[in-house]
Amino acid sequence: MSTQAPAGAKYCCKCSKDVTHQQRMKDTEGRYWCPDCSKKDEAKKMEHAGAVCKGCGEAFSKPQLTWIGGLPYCKPCMTSRFAVKKTFLGRVWSQLKGE
Ligand SMILES: [Zn+2]
Ligand SMILES: [Zn+2]
Repeated sequence: MSTQAPAGAKYCCKCSKDVTHQQRMKDTEGRYWCPDCSKKDEAKKMEHAGAVCKGCGEAFSKPQLTWIGGLPYCKPCMTSRFAVKKTFLGRVWSQLKGE
């Protein structure tokens, strides 16, 4: 006797969960995904996809970006932002000290 899955049975390609009678996704290669694995895969893709810097509009990979308030900024933009902030704070500090 064969131990093969019954005809028409659908299993998640990641966790082998039986998704025959429940919500599932099918990828371009015809494999099935359960909602959980599909969600995890999406999150992983997002992590590696990178984003467009909100400061200069250039696209960067994830490791090059710093997220502030949910928005991505590249290193040069971060540096200039901090430089501005530092100068501003420095000025305020000087005023407070009465210089
Ligand atoms: Zn799964
Ligand atoms: Zn930038």
